[in-house]
Amino acid sequence: MQYNFRNDCFWNAIPAWENIGREAFFDYKWQLKNSIHSLDRIVSLLSDIVDPIFLADIRSGLEKSAMNIRITPYLFSQIDWSEPYHDPLRKQYLPLESEMRAPHPWSDDDSLAEKQNGKGSLIVHRYPDKVLFLPITVCPVYCMYCTRSRLVGGSTKTKEKDMYGPKPKNWTEAFHYLRDNEDIEDVVISGGDLYQISAKHIELIGKSLLDIPNIRRVRFATKGLAVLPMKVLGDHDWTNAISNVVEYGREKDKQVFLHTHFNHPKEITEWTREALSLLFKKGIIVRNQSVLLAGVNDTPEIMKTLIKYLSYMGVQPYYIYLHDMVPYSEHLRTSLKTAVYIEKSIRGSTAGFNTPTIVCDLLMGGGKRQICSYEYYDELSGISLWKSPNLDPDKIFFHCDPLDELSKEGREIWCDKKKLDAHKDLLIQKINQ
Ligand code: SF4
Repeated sequence: MQYNFRNDCFWNAIPAWENIGREAFFDYKWQLKNSIHSLDRIVSLLSDIVDPIFLADIRSGLEKSAMNIRITPYLFSQIDWSEPYHDPLRKQYLPLESEMRAPHPWSDDDSLAEKQNGKGSLIVHRYPDKVLFLPITVCPVYCMYCTRSRLVGGSTKTKEKDMYGPKPKNWTEAFHYLRDNEDIEDVVISGGDLYQISAKHIELIGKSLLDIPNIRRVRFATKGLAVLPMKVLGDHDWTNAISNVVEYGREKDKQVFLHTHFNHPKEITEWTREALSLLFKKGIIVRNQSVLLAGVNDTPEIMKTLIKYLSYMGVQPYYIYLHDMVPYSEHLRTSLKTAVYIEKSIRGSTAGFNTPTIVCDLLMGGGKRQICSYEYYDELSGISLWKSPNLDPDKIFFHCDPLDELSKEGREIWCDKKKLDAHKDLLIQKINQ
């Protein structure tokens, strides 16, 4: 099947950009210069085309959000501004107070216990042979559901953060840790986003890691392809730096991958296809990790379309994450039941190697577990119980459905601490029987 991705001048629907030509709009430097960082800028772009009530809703949403606004004109102008409440892109990047929910009682801004597994300030070492390296805390966009909302994107009214950009001197300590721990073979570079790291620093990080004898695999993470594909096409130094690191790894019989983050088919245009075609021709393997988001992509039809589009462009649909239990994005979380339903619906629709594994990254650092591998799932309280033998064989880990999706009886359990403790003990007994 031949797909025809969006290729029209969609940005001309925004009054301020109605005279911006194709060449100017697809200049990545223009995109960066015109990225939208403030409510004032949103008001100036939209006041003629959206209801002031909607703009007021964003204003009060921002008061409660853990993430600041940052969005590229490319994404901003793909939002359907005649239906902004329902648009899957708007929901990811612009908060509305009217759709926000109180945080789940067990949510935590470090829900994956990354601090507990921290080694120095830039390394998270949870799995035996794999680490996460966080060289920066800035991204080309800010996603309202970010799992590292405690670190990424600068302070907001609800959350103080220590933001940092590239500091190569601090990276040396991380490289020493990796060299000193010979069981570590796999490094994920995330944070923060690779798009905000210069070509020179990409080569420094990539080659320093590949020079460590025990490191066999390096994965660079970027959402950039979904939000600014023109950088891959126009910033030749940056794209060549990735390519050089891939080649450097290949010479050493080591693997280097690019991991990206598309959530919805609407994020894919003809420019995405061209950018991915360039990476493919350079021999760069790209995998995708989506987050399952309520009202954005939580239907089998949307996920199947996304998987087909990604596969068509040579991107492996690798993971779909159940949304982590971080505060201030409760309205975007889905239930375990929904994830299992989507897993059943998508499996068998295409080749197994292009079928993403749906995973739940457990509260308290239990790591990623395949969505159907829970020990017990109590739909009444929404609590699921899990084991993670390679991380802690004796511990029981938990995940919880959003309270909004529970019955009245289920929600009442969460209103009474004694009732909740007794219910939790009962569930633990069930799996210990
Ligand atoms: S791009 Fe990734 S790290 Fe950055 S805000 Fe979005 S989810 Fe968080």
